[in-house]
Amino acid sequence: MAYLLPQNERVRLDKLHSLAVLTPEDDPILDTLVEIGCISAKMPIGSIALLDAEWLWFKANRGLTEKKIPRDHAFCNYTILDDTPLVIPDAEKDSRFSDNPFVRGKEHIRFYAGVPIEVEPGIRIGCLCVLDRKPRELDRDAMQILRWLADCAAERLRQRGNARLLEFFSARRRDQLKASLKMIDAAKIALAQNAFTLFYQPKYELRTRRRVGFEALLRWRQADGSTLAPAAFAEALDDPEFSRRIGSYVLAEAISQAKTWQRAGFEFGHIAINVSSSQFANEEGKMAFADEVMVATKCASLSPSRLHIEVTEGVLLSRVENHVAKQLAQLRATGFKVAFDDFGTGFASLIHLKELEYDQIKIDGSFVRAMISSEGDMAIVKAVVGLARNLGKEVVAEGIETEAELSALIEMGCGYGQGYLLGRPTAASGVTEVVGNAK
Ligand code: C2E
Ligand code: MG
Ligand code: MG
Repeated sequence: MAYLLPQNERVRLDKLHSLAVLTPEDDPILDTLVEIGCISAKMPIGSIALLDAEWLWFKANRGLTEKKIPRDHAFCNYTILDDTPLVIPDAEKDSRFSDNPFVRGKEHIRFYAGVPIEVEPGIRIGCLCVLDRKPRELDRDAMQILRWLADCAAERLRQRGNARLLEFFSARRRDQLKASLKMIDAAKIALAQNAFTLFYQPKYELRTRRRVGFEALLRWRQADGSTLAPAAFAEALDDPEFSRRIGSYVLAEAISQAKTWQRAGFEFGHIAINVSSSQFANEEGKMAFADEVMVATKCASLSPSRLHIEVTEGVLLSRVENHVAKQLAQLRATGFKVAFDDFGTGFASLIHLKELEYDQIKIDGSFVRAMISSEGDMAIVKAVVGLARNLGKEVVAEGIETEAELSALIEMGCGYGQGYLLGRPTAASGVTEVVGNAK
């Protein structure tokens, strides 16, 4: 049987599948609707049938043995084309259906009346229909009842879909929560077992290619010798308790590394550490982050100029904003430099650039990597470099991977940069091995 597809067929199928109602279990309410339809129209056969790309599924039926039939044979293809019911008084005499296996075959259907089931305006996922094995007519009252029943069926299918969607999402959410709790626990154990470490990525003055410092990047050492980068344990870094503990570890470890390099006579410049917002939260019985930094560097007899603090916009604008601003101001006043990390990826307005406490803007690597092929990204990077300079801030480009990016950054006057082209993050032992090659 050749049939027309509804104009919105793709959307219609998407909606049908999103309702997730093409499942084998019976629905007593839909069964009852079909019963009422058959009784009121005095028909032996009836169904609520849903039409997908290949099949007509009998979601509820009376008098039919099949659970589904190929779409090619479905009268319903015509019923869903518009919102009016389809009545076929005698299928044998209707050229559209006279060769249909339902008419010619053992079912020997002659009469059909179907009302589309519309779950959203214009989206008809199937029909409620009544059938007979002899030619018939249907009076207006019976037809009106079928329309009401089709509306009830649409409502029921919508509800079932919503319930399923809710079940699906809550189960998924539960699984996600369980997985992240497991990850946070594993990270806490790993921290206690000393399985975290810092990798160091060099940072350069671009014009001279002189190394000016290192960024400390957290890594989780695995049993097989590999390491995980923060994206793999982001949930743990978002957990306030773990984040504070790992923050203290990172601070202590970076200071200890700085001392080791200093003692070894290695001119490392500075080490920048990344700090999360929960580290700034005031906690009873615990030193504020700024005090912790000042005390730790003082105890190690390390100059504040040796330590940079990197914070993202999320930290600068976080709920603990006041504590953050106050503590960053304190740190800057003491001589620690503060970097505004990943600049351009958030939503900070330009007013923030003027008001927040920082010394350096780090342009996110995504802009740097895109700028050679995209005029828009190039314009953004140029604008940020100019803006930073006019505000009296240093500017660091992140994620430099190619000579072309490097040349463009130098040309536009970007002071500093880091990236795989200049040096990848490596363990401290790796850093000292390449000291001889440092540019
Ligand atoms: P970030 O602070 O912006 O660090 C730069 C990221 O870019 C690092 O990813 C680094 O490995 C990567 N990178 C550097 N050069 C290139 C390059 O040329 N190409 C590409 N594709 N990537 C490059 P990593 O180490 O995976 O760290 C991701 C983020 O995790 C960091 O972004 C930082 O926000 C956070 N993070 C790292 N260490 C710590 C930490 O100790 N504490 C906290 N709270 N966050 C940390
Ligand atoms: Mg950073
Ligand atoms: Mg960054």
